[in-house]
Amino acid sequence: MRFYSTNLQAPAVDLRQALLTGQAPDKGLYMPENIPVIPPEEIYSWREKSYPEVAFAVMRRWTRGLLTDDELLRICYECYDYPVPLERVTGRRYLLRLDRGPTASFKDFAARMMARLLRHILKTEGGELVILTATSGDTGSAVASAFHNVDRIRMLVLFPLAEVSDRQRRQMTTLGGNVTTIGIDGKFDDCQALVKQAFTDPKLGHIRFSSANSINIGRLLPQSVYYFYAACRLTEKGERLVVSVPSGNFGNMCAGMLAWRMGLPAQKFVIATNENDEFPRFLATGRYEKIVPSRKCISNAMNVGHPSNLPRLVALYGGVMDEQGNVKKEPDFAAMRREMFATSVTDEQTRQTIVDTWQRYHTLLEPHGAVGWFGLERYLEASPAEPVVSIETAHPAKFPEEIRSLLGIEPELPPSLAGLDTRPEYYETGPADYRWFREFLQSRLK
Ligand SMILES: *Cc1c(COP(=O)(O)O)cnc(C)c1O
Repeated sequence: MRFYSTNLQAPAVDLRQALLTGQAPDKGLYMPENIPVIPPEEIYSWREKSYPEVAFAVMRRWTRGLLTDDELLRICYECYDYPVPLERVTGRRYLLRLDRGPTASFKDFAARMMARLLRHILKTEGGELVILTATSGDTGSAVASAFHNVDRIRMLVLFPLAEVSDRQRRQMTTLGGNVTTIGIDGKFDDCQALVKQAFTDPKLGHIRFSSANSINIGRLLPQSVYYFYAACRLTEKGERLVVSVPSGNFGNMCAGMLAWRMGLPAQKFVIATNENDEFPRFLATGRYEKIVPSRKCISNAMNVGHPSNLPRLVALYGGVMDEQGNVKKEPDFAAMRREMFATSVTDEQTRQTIVDTWQRYHTLLEPHGAVGWFGLERYLEASPAEPVVSIETAHPAKFPEEIRSLLGIEPELPPSLAGLDTRPEYYETGPADYRWFREFLQSRLK
């Protein structure tokens, strides 16, 4: 299994190399040269399988040569030890709740698998890895939790002291062990600048760093699994599923498109964005314009004006887009429009959806899932279809203020978040100053 760079200016690598480096040397993103196809009979035979078993059946197509089947199966059980509810909303319309992992975010699905794949590589090769990451909130907690207590890995997370919520901070600072959390007296951009400088600092050249950020192929492949998990349970032979994905950086939907190429029985992907509508416009007009600065919406994890995974999607349709968003070769727009319905959802529509689905179906959505659900309903109005599934990417309890003000109820905390408010916190603080940060790293990573 080889992976090429979407910028086409770097050599192809194996999965091991792609996982360790993240971004290709030409600043492109890694994509598989060949996509393995799973026969429909096999997919239907998964209906009774548990989530870890489906994950094993899908992931072994990618990890051949890196792990034995026994090793992979053990990792799948370790990663996915929480429920994955497929909730019927009405008729044959379903919600796939990916919000029961340790940080109540769908990012747990990929981050946990990636951490264990890296652990495996380090174990066979020897050595240690330092994951250095800057976060504005949710990604840092999912990644920190995924790497928590994973052998041979040290984790350092930088966050802007005044810009994360109490709950977001606690999700990182209560872990301890191999996770060091550093609150920076500055903005998210300052944190990111410190991290970037450390990666290229020759004085820290002896430390093996990785960022584990969302452009790593290891954050993408494990996300193709849940599409199969839903499809094998919801479709009968010959049927094709409509899937709706609330999207920001487009990792989730790219994983879905990969799943489709692998044989997922799908007929349409609904790509629902918030008011950052650069992709729906791109699909409609064929012209790409990023949104700078990105628009602030209540589905805040999707406030992305230039999705970093877009070059991957363009590559899937035969085009080339560089990391800046310049289209070097046009993708097959006709095919893209046939397979995708892209739509932008306002905050007003998002709030109304949370109210409507609660009143009509007693289904509780949070803002990201509501964007997906509204997009799905908009699509179905013009093109009725069944069965359909929409992805819920976060737990409603992560947005208690919004839920309280719209519905007057208090969302129940999932077990992973319960007790968070009373656990002891450990974190360091420091200025947004690189010299201070370098000394900190030198003293901690001896
Ligand atoms: C990250 C995130 C998204 C966006 O996912 P992408 O893969 O970046 O499109 C959506 N919802 C939530 C809750 C997230 O944390």
